[in-house]
Amino acid sequence: MAKTKVTSFQDLLRCPPGPVDLTTVQPRATPGLKGGKDEALKTLPDYAQRLADLQERLYAAAKTGDRRRVLLVLQGMDTSGKSGVVKHVAGAVNPMDCRIQSFKAPTKEELAHDFLWRIRRALPEAGELGVFDRSHYEDVLVVRVRELAPRAVWSRRYSSINRFEERLVADGCTVVKCFLHISPDAQKERLLARLDDPTKYWKYNPSDVDDRMLWPQFQDAYAVALEKCNTGPAPWYVIPADRKWYRNYAITRLLIEVLEGLDLGWPPADFSVKDERARLEKMPAPQPGG
Ligand code: AMP
Ligand code: MG
Repeated sequence: MAKTKVTSFQDLLRCPPGPVDLTTVQPRATPGLKGGKDEALKTLPDYAQRLADLQERLYAAAKTGDRRRVLLVLQGMDTSGKSGVVKHVAGAVNPMDCRIQSFKAPTKEELAHDFLWRIRRALPEAGELGVFDRSHYEDVLVVRVRELAPRAVWSRRYSSINRFEERLVADGCTVVKCFLHISPDAQKERLLARLDDPTKYWKYNPSDVDDRMLWPQFQDAYAVALEKCNTGPAPWYVIPADRKWYRNYAITRLLIEVLEGLDLGWPPADFSVKDERARLEKMPAPQPGG
């Protein structure tokens, strides 16, 4: 009997090597999800549970000296859903095992250091799932588009990033880089929704509209970053993100595959289970206050 072919989200969403043309990826597409929204919403709780189980194994492994950890890097235009993914992933796993960091425009102190300085300080520890809402990629994206540093400076950063990520992966940190790909129409709709709802004004930033005016320049900068930093050890994934339910579904499936690839068991007891059970069973219940 022919085996059912299981779709690998890593294969489906992996950015192909070579020049990147983002116009060939439909932001409304739902690769690997035949049943559409209904299927996504119906199956997501089980996948979230599976993700939580795998993350707990990773955390448990660290207790016995395993140094492995996972870093999810989220990049995308404003309103692409980076914080939505953070909420979804962090809501699925034990928050204790997560290390979440968002990166804003660098502070004076951060600017006084190399661009990777603040990144290194925010990396996940052994057993943790790190999530970056924006990242070191801003230093070749907004910095390039807005000319916040000379070309001679930012153009050297692609290879610095590749070296940095390669070392990180060699040191046991699996790096999962996701570009949340939205259409300009979806962004307009999401920005307008923020203006329509007084409980969302706080999410609205007039500078998002300034960045929106530079949409083509940002898309070009993304295409270059995706191409130059799409390495074997730390590949890029392109996530169609106009549909929020697909975005969350795809990233959950991707993380599950990555964690399954680590082949994590449960650490064995480093004590005699039999002796400990006997000790507990024989022991008289401690008396309160006595
Ligand atoms: P938000 O993610 O919408 O809260 O906005 C964070 C802002 O910080 C965005 O406009 C980013 O472009 C900006 N930002 C993040 N990292 C950098 C960086 N390294 N250099 C300059 N701006 C940055
Ligand atoms: Mg913003």
